[in-house]
Amino acid sequence: MTVSFDEIPEKSGFCAIDCIHSTPILHHRALILEPLLALRFNGVDSPQGIKRKAPHNVGFIGPNGIRRIDRSGAQQGGVASRKEVAQQSSRRLHSIDQPQHHIMVVADMTGGRLSAQDKDILGLAHQLAAKKAATAVMLVVFGEHKETTFAESGVDRLLHIEGDAFEGFSPDLRLAWLAAIEREMQPDYWIFPDSGLGGGDLGRRLAVELEVHAATGLWQVNLNEEGFSCTCRASAATQDLTRALPRVILALAECAEPISDTLHEAQEVKLMREPLDQLPRIQDLGAVAVDPASVSLAEAEFILSGGNGIRDWDAFHETARILGATEGASRVAVDDGFMPRDRQVGATGTWVTARVYMAVGISGAIQHLQGIQSCDKVICINTDAGCDMVKRADLALIGDSTEILAAVRRKVSELKQEKRHVA
Ligand SMILES: Cc1cc2nc3c(=O)[nH]c(=O)nc-3n(C[C@H](O)[C@H](O)[C@H](O)COP(=O)(O)OP(=O)(O)OC[C@H]3O[C@@H](n4cnc5c(N)ncnc54)[C@H](O)[C@@H]3O)c2cc1C
Repeated sequence: MTVSFDEIPEKSGFCAIDCIHSTPILHHRALILEPLLALRFNGVDSPQGIKRKAPHNVGFIGPNGIRRIDRSGAQQGGVASRKEVAQQSSRRLHSIDQPQHHIMVVADMTGGRLSAQDKDILGLAHQLAAKKAATAVMLVVFGEHKETTFAESGVDRLLHIEGDAFEGFSPDLRLAWLAAIEREMQPDYWIFPDSGLGGGDLGRRLAVELEVHAATGLWQVNLNEEGFSCTCRASAATQDLTRALPRVILALAECAEPISDTLHEAQEVKLMREPLDQLPRIQDLGAVAVDPASVSLAEAEFILSGGNGIRDWDAFHETARILGATEGASRVAVDDGFMPRDRQVGATGTWVTARVYMAVGISGAIQHLQGIQSCDKVICINTDAGCDMVKRADLALIGDSTEILAAVRRKVSELKQEKRHVA
């Protein structure tokens, strides 16, 4: 979606970052955004009062940088029923009346929503399920969630395990539930995202519990005469290792294509026997605030990145501080001495996996785009509507970086003040 800065209606304020809506960061950091939703879903009122639909607002860019058309309509907002979605779209309904086998997916659900990696592993689960009749892909979700696209993402069955205890760090409890699922359902495979967000840890814990030599860093599954084999990153990701596919799988992002042409039942199920209460061995003392400036780029969830189009670096740093974003930079900004070398994003810098990447005054050279290919949502601010970063972005603001960053700061300050009044 491309919005000229001049086209943003006065009453909606600076409302440019609707795609953050799908991330947890919205609730903590990017307070600028709510009015934007109206803009994204309803189009923009031009100065003449004519409603304009953003012509680029079709589909979205996937983690591998390819534009995908979301035929479910979910990307366009609004909550459509599963039947409506099926009617509106050309998606075939994939239903399994009585599953005989299960493939269990335990998603990270960062911020209560399926991440791009979660969707990739659901795609992987369906690759395995397709080889055996009456196999359902079941998603295990712990605690509260905000996800509305389970059906579009390939979830045949949903096991939602509720409880306040899951809001904190609770690996013992989660493992006890997974062990109970194992006893009751004996799934063919367990798949976790091999991430630092929970899946990587929980998957390894389950593998120890089940005495399985898990496949970690998996990025490909192959079917051959002996059955499934898999290819995993090994030796600190310097080599690939091919082995038989074990029951516990920890998979990397882009291990498979996410589901895009079928609609699934996402039917809720319950366990017949819940695990017995047990004394936890770990006590969660709560989250600790982290200074975003000290977060390494590779781990940052929200990055504000500056390039050669930044005219006022003090204002850039101030915007990052107000947004609570970690700072990144293009190579030109680093070479020119405006940012330290360890902040360079790209092929010869750091490859980042942020939920939201905001590129300001960065043209989108191939070496830079390589470094952001795993980012969930990309927002860019640029004077050139035809540059490659605009093509890559989920949302582009066309205008001068200094003016737009000033508007962002203004809006965030206003919203923070409003929040203080309410409190
Ligand atoms: C071997 C090799 C490895 C490389 N590795 C990397 C790497 O890891 N990371 C990396 O980033 N680059 C890398 N590069 C460099 C890369 O090719 C580009 O030169 C670089 O990314 C460009 O940086 P930039 O987008 O900030 O600058 P530019 O290409 O100069 O783009 C500046 C952008 O700012 C916009 N702009 C100008 N004024 C304004 C304004 N007032 N408001 C808003 N927008 C404005 C312009 O329209 C333009 O799009 C590498 C190059 C080579 C050859």
